[in-house]
Amino acid sequence: MAKVVADDVPEAQLVRLLSDLVAIESVNPAYPSGERGEGAMAAFVEDYCRRLGLDVSRQPVLPGRDNVLAALRVPGARRTLLFEVHMDTVGLDGLGGEGLQAAVRDGRLYGRGACDAKGALASMLAARELLLARRNELGVNVLLLASVDEEYQYRGILRFIDSIPGDPSVDAAVVGEPTELRVVVAHKGCVRTRITTVGRAAHSSRPEEGINAIEHMAGVVAALREHRRTIAERRHPLVGNPTLSIGRIWGGTAVNIVPDRCTIEIDRRTIPGENAAGALAEIDAVLAGLRRKDGSIIVKREEPFVADWALDTPVDTAVVRAAATACRDTGVPGGPVGVAYGSDASKLWALRGIPSIVLGPGSIAQAHTDDEYVPVAHLSLAVQVYARTAMHLAAAISE
Ligand SMILES: [Zn+2]
Repeated sequence: MAKVVADDVPEAQLVRLLSDLVAIESVNPAYPSGERGEGAMAAFVEDYCRRLGLDVSRQPVLPGRDNVLAALRVPGARRTLLFEVHMDTVGLDGLGGEGLQAAVRDGRLYGRGACDAKGALASMLAARELLLARRNELGVNVLLLASVDEEYQYRGILRFIDSIPGDPSVDAAVVGEPTELRVVVAHKGCVRTRITTVGRAAHSSRPEEGINAIEHMAGVVAALREHRRTIAERRHPLVGNPTLSIGRIWGGTAVNIVPDRCTIEIDRRTIPGENAAGALAEIDAVLAGLRRKDGSIIVKREEPFVADWALDTPVDTAVVRAAATACRDTGVPGGPVGVAYGSDASKLWALRGIPSIVLGPGSIAQAHTDDEYVPVAHLSLAVQVYARTAMHLAAAISE
């Protein structure tokens, strides 16, 4: 067993680093006020890692929006552990400019991105300093990927996945998101789509001459509620049951016109073992059943506008064992646990079979809120857990 990291990064240094990261606006351009994207953050991460002496490169993803890769190559190591964290944040919303000014109160560091996911980024950067000092005992290469666009269409991680197996290839991954320092091995996936009923417009004084798309949609909604009861009987031990939610509805043009169109948007959360295509096929079967019952129904489903994968890394894989040991060393709860929200980890697992966990400081309860913060004490714990996971991984792989 490799000797684990013993030294600490001073808390004041972590607070300063995270405050610097919060001050760099990196709102995803899909959100209001997100004009600049992740460009300034990428420049900071690149510069920081170069000064550490790491092997730094960029991976263009979108105009002005590059992933940053920083490799710590260990002589003789054949395996590579990836640390992945996204650089973008959601919009500043009610926070305005204050969202970019980190404030420490009651042991918490407040600011946009403090927990989602700049706290993890700061801790991963600091962990690299510890690991660099122990390069010769490390036994695995450690690659950091600071990615773009996680908060919208995760094109950063998808671009990276397209590039592997590369040099170095990746054997396991730790994805930084606010998990309260628990080791997340499973989470749900998601598919979102629109369904439209098409009727025939007529004057409301003679409704029998039209076909009412809203009334037909009522039948669709009832059938989807029934379908929801069926899928809710499935269960995954860590993430629970699949869900289906109808989030929006619109239709009709005026009260005196029989509506010829009605549309809903639905959000279907998949559990490990399900996928987007399968979930959509089940919805299509529900719609086909309605058409069989009533030949006058015209109902169409669009291609999904979101299709994200579930995560289901087996608990006996090396990275899970290494992270569990690292958590035990550090005195944090560890896991393994499942959560309902998504992350970049599921893409690495579903598309390349890379055992991946999600782990980081702060709680998802504060992510995307105007009250976003990370407990300061979580930061140094995360540095230790990240560094020790890398130290333990080589031992776990060779067992
Ligand atoms: Zn996040």
